[in-house]
Amino acid sequence: MLLRQGIDAIVLEQRDEAYVRARVRAGVLEQTTVDVLDQLGLADRLYAEALRHDGFYLRFDRSTHKLDFHADTGRNAWVYGQAEVVADLIDDLKKRDRPVVFEAADVSVDGYLTGRPEVAYTDGEGRRRVIEADFVAGCDGFHGVCRATVADRIATAERSYPFAWLGILAHSTPVTAEGMYTAHPDGLAVHSMRGPHITRQYLQVPADTDLDAWSDERIWAELRRRSAADDWPELETGEVFEKSLAPLRSLVSEPMRVGSLFLLGDAAHIVPPTGAKGLNLAVSDACVFSHAVGGFYATGRKDLLDAYSDTALDRVWQAQAFSWNLTSMLHRFDDDGFDWPLRRARLQRLVDCDDDRRAIGHVYLGLPFPTAWRYE
Ligand SMILES: Cc1cc2nc3c(=O)[nH]c(=O)nc-3n(C[C@H](O)[C@H](O)[C@H](O)COP(=O)(O)OP(=O)(O)OC[C@H]3O[C@@H](n4cnc5c(N)ncnc54)[C@H](O)[C@@H]3O)c2cc1C
Repeated sequence: MLLRQGIDAIVLEQRDEAYVRARVRAGVLEQTTVDVLDQLGLADRLYAEALRHDGFYLRFDRSTHKLDFHADTGRNAWVYGQAEVVADLIDDLKKRDRPVVFEAADVSVDGYLTGRPEVAYTDGEGRRRVIEADFVAGCDGFHGVCRATVADRIATAERSYPFAWLGILAHSTPVTAEGMYTAHPDGLAVHSMRGPHITRQYLQVPADTDLDAWSDERIWAELRRRSAADDWPELETGEVFEKSLAPLRSLVSEPMRVGSLFLLGDAAHIVPPTGAKGLNLAVSDACVFSHAVGGFYATGRKDLLDAYSDTALDRVWQAQAFSWNLTSMLHRFDDDGFDWPLRRARLQRLVDCDDDRRAIGHVYLGLPFPTAWRYE
């Protein structure tokens, strides 16, 4: 986004290229994210390879419902792996003669309060290098250097959950043509896909779960038990080739700017995976940042930079509200007699009430970004 506005930028990445290209993470892109990639001229492969979804399926009480947000809005969700998006970006930077600097070790950020920040790193040959910049975009995730650098200057609101998602990647046919959330009194099961014969599925499990205690057979049995339905064929099983355990949490740090260091994406906020907002929020932050920096170089105006944190945070909190809504509806939180009937009533409302379904779909497919990526 910066290079396309004629602003020089260097991307530092601590991992090697092969690792970054292969890292399996997010898979659902909002229409809004796809629109931006399209405007950047980076959507050709996506349009050729991605799965285009209308919404998602919802199953509870052994009944299956399709929430068709496309029918409501004319927009779509797109299944295209985060690694593919990242690969397209890496290739584009190479083409533009600004290749990502991989294997940048011991990155440090200094001078961000003076207006002349410096980013130092050790390159692949062991040489220490220093980049002098006007701005630093901290896009290095929750465990990165940028967040840690300003840790004592930001405040964090956090909510953790007593459960995690046990995830598998498997060679099997997806049970539904689009992703499905199955709500069950004993907890959530998620059925998503990475292609016509590869499934990505999750089970809600206690936060202290030992992954080794879950054999493939046990995982399939539990997925089948929670997802049993009277109106659908049984879930197909297959070879599991990846297994993971991800704790769930919600977190927002403010402000998202300290001096000339800006926090973007997971460096500033985390959403639970329910509703697939994490990657999409990172793109939205990048648009706000790029627009503000573009305005500064085009006209010298600083107000957009000053407003960066508030502008980005408005959308971040909308996404948090959406994720919380879905998370609280789909997961088992309590053993009391209130938890399941309450959740079931909320789910039934989504199925019965067009307005409630539309409200969810509107956010799922992507609220408009608060700014364009380019300053005009
Ligand atoms: C298993 C899993 C499934 C997910 N599913 C979804 C989904 O379906 N939809 C969705 O929207 N989100 C999903 N997410 C969340 C999503 O992946 C993140 O929200 C998103 O990657 C955030 O992007 P980011 O650019 O802020 O951070 P990251 O993608 O984490 O990128 C940060 C980069 O900085 C690098 N880095 C870290 N430290 C340093 C350092 N010191 N120096 C240099 N480089 C450094 C890292 O190697 C990394 O490449 C999922 C996450 C996981 C783990």
